[in-house]
Amino acid sequence: MNPKKILTVIGARPQFIKASAVSALLRDTRDLHEVVVHTGQHFDANMSDVFFAELGMDPPAHHCAVHGGTHGDMTGRMLIEIEKLLLREEPDAVLVYGDTNSTLAGALAAVKLHIPVAHVEAGLRSFNPRSPEEVNRSLTDRVARWLFTPTEIAGAHLLREGAAPDRIDQVGDVMYDVALHHGGRVGEDGGVLDRLREEHGVRPGAYCLATIHRAENTDHPARLGAIVAALTSFARDIKVVLPLHPRTRGILAQQGKLEALERALVLVEPQGYLSMVQLEKYAALIATDSGGVQKEAYFHRVPCVTLRDETEWVELLEAGWNRLAPPVDPAAVLDCLHASLGSKGKDVAPYGAGDAARRIVQRLLRDLHQDSRVDRH
Ligand code: UDP
Repeated sequence: MNPKKILTVIGARPQFIKASAVSALLRDTRDLHEVVVHTGQHFDANMSDVFFAELGMDPPAHHCAVHGGTHGDMTGRMLIEIEKLLLREEPDAVLVYGDTNSTLAGALAAVKLHIPVAHVEAGLRSFNPRSPEEVNRSLTDRVARWLFTPTEIAGAHLLREGAAPDRIDQVGDVMYDVALHHGGRVGEDGGVLDRLREEHGVRPGAYCLATIHRAENTDHPARLGAIVAALTSFARDIKVVLPLHPRTRGILAQQGKLEALERALVLVEPQGYLSMVQLEKYAALIATDSGGVQKEAYFHRVPCVTLRDETEWVELLEAGWNRLAPPVDPAAVLDCLHASLGSKGKDVAPYGAGDAARRIVQRLLRDLHQDSRVDRH
């Protein structure tokens, strides 16, 4: 059998992490051959290179070096670069992950050239039409041939929107695969926790880990202000460790809020995956606006407060592990942080069995080899 070529488009931190699980299997699958394109959306060493190194990924075959600019500008430049690569590589399928501009650009470039698209993490919905992630994920789902869903609820959303059932494959969450595979490598001793213990008195089990990067928070001064105020008050009772996303750092610096925050919290650079897992695993509480970090909190059985108005990962709200704290009123956010400390939820298993990557690869292998003309749109 001639191997079928899969061109993977990734560009942002969570995509490197998700792709690591699938790419490892593709590398071992004789009849599939993967070519990885990095759009350049995240480019700092600690937002990109570290993940390739830590998670055992080969360097990307192509790098588009597209970052910055407005959404339209960034997505448009990616579209141009990805189209050129698709014409040159002539893949049998294009694989995209999640909900970033890189996801949408990859999907759109492919579907216009009649190359079938596989979307990993399909069907998630926040039902917030103003969120750039919601736009990216729902448009990608619309054009994808394979909709690999992480949860039952995601599949139900797709069916309600009219997706044909044979396009939907509930494989589970690839992030769970990665957490199972790499989470065990991380213990309490050594690493970033040792450094934070020495330099800031941060003790395992006795700190709150926070992350903030979503545009709906960072680009709205009142919302960002509410988060900063709540975390600053919370830090009087418990150490708050905040690995600061470069965009959030830039905005806080512009608003003159960085120095006060630095005095109140333990600010650190964005972490590599293994350091982040260590920080998550030994936190007393996680406060975040990240999609991935909400789930990882549960994978490590740490209670979580989500600093958003809504979440697409609703299962953990129902199970009691996660609470929504819309960053509007700092006092309400602070109350929620206090109420969540020490709380536990129900044991649930909405994210599959940790074999999502294997199921994705098997389905692609089967469909691509069964019919090389695979239902091109
Ligand atoms: N992450 C990381 N270092 C950090 C912050 C996050 O490795 O400093 C990881 C985190 O563990 C998770 C992923 O990045 O696996 C989540 O990405 P992010 O929060 O950027 O995006 P989202 O999940 O909201 O799309």
